[in-house]
Amino acid sequence: LLADDGSVAVTIFAEMSALAARTGAINLGQGFPDVDGPEYVKQAAIRAIEEGRNQYAPGDGVPELRRAIADHQKRHYGLDVDPDTEVLVTTGATEALTASVLALTRPGDEVLTLEPFYDSHAAAIGMSGATHVTAPLLPGPDGFRLDVDALRAAASPRLRMILLNSPHNPTGAVLTRDELAAVAAVAEEHDAIVVTDEVYEHLTFGAEHIPIATLPGMATRTLTISSSGKTFSFTGWKVGWLHGPADLVTAVRTVKQYLTYTSGAPFQPAIALALADDDTPRALTASLAGRRDLLCAGLEAAGFTVTRPAGTYFVMADASGLLGRLGLRDGVELCRRLPELAGVVAIPAAAFCRAGSPTASALAAHVRFTFVKQEAVLREGATRLAGLG
Ligand code: PMP
Ligand code: GLN
Repeated sequence: LLADDGSVAVTIFAEMSALAARTGAINLGQGFPDVDGPEYVKQAAIRAIEEGRNQYAPGDGVPELRRAIADHQKRHYGLDVDPDTEVLVTTGATEALTASVLALTRPGDEVLTLEPFYDSHAAAIGMSGATHVTAPLLPGPDGFRLDVDALRAAASPRLRMILLNSPHNPTGAVLTRDELAAVAAVAEEHDAIVVTDEVYEHLTFGAEHIPIATLPGMATRTLTISSSGKTFSFTGWKVGWLHGPADLVTAVRTVKQYLTYTSGAPFQPAIALALADDDTPRALTASLAGRRDLLCAGLEAAGFTVTRPAGTYFVMADASGLLGRLGLRDGVELCRRLPELAGVVAIPAAAFCRAGSPTASALAAHVRFTFVKQEAVLREGATRLAGLG
């Protein structure tokens, strides 16, 4: 799965989904729902196609979507966002992240992420030539928590950007106000920009999602990223966005125009409609809470130790208790063999860590499962995993 330097030729998600397809295994690896978002949103996109919205959308996104994003941020978080100067529609959150890192960092700068981290965060830093430094997020009695002392220690005078992610993929952690305040203090001390990936903002189970841009003084140094893929179950449409201070957004737009210029013209008005709808994400979250419990129970019955996620649609499972019995070394080996042993695909935590890092060692026996699948699929997955031990 992983080259010696930790790189993968194709993303871990593409590789593991191909493995699932090839072996007929249940794919609890790549995080995408097996039920589409609402019919009325699909119909809105179809209407937009029929009405002829099929040529390039404006580079910063169609006005109704930019307005809907600003309204959403005001309604949910009290953030004041100018839809004309402070919003940029992107090709998924992925482009927002990559364009932000490319626009705002250069070789020699340091970019700090949590570790484990979502794979494209590290790839974006790699493409920019900046140096990637990390602060660990490790499991304890209260779930995966940020080591605040390690965070402070990781920040040097060369720190240019903190690339945050909460609710956090792959751990399911939702950063607390205290953790966010510690991040904000480090950003202020080093005059760093914060780029925050909040694609799972609505998918929390009791924990409060707090955008770091709402902390005192942070709106002026923060770019907030989200995406319709997770919130409305249209991952294939790749409609994402960011917002923040106009000068930072302008810098990102400059890069974005040479990456894709624009995309998804007929999908943008449909997502504008969806963004006014708080019932759809609420219903998704309610049903995900039950599916989380179902998968966690199945994993525990199979011999894993799970850290119950407070958000996202992923759960980290510690396979330490199983590896010896199965004669396997670590989570990477387990994920390679899991299709054959149990007919299930999962992702090793190592894919979200730097090769050989202390966090990679701490999480060597961990694997990530997704529960954004229909209950029957999760039940079948749990039954298959029960045969493991
Ligand atoms: N950030 C995180 C943390 C993710 O899990 C994902 C996966 N969807 C993305 C970004 C990418 O989002 P998009 O599909 O909108 O590019
Ligand atoms: N975000 C999804 C996950 O973590 C994968 C998206 C992708 O394949 N790039 O599983």
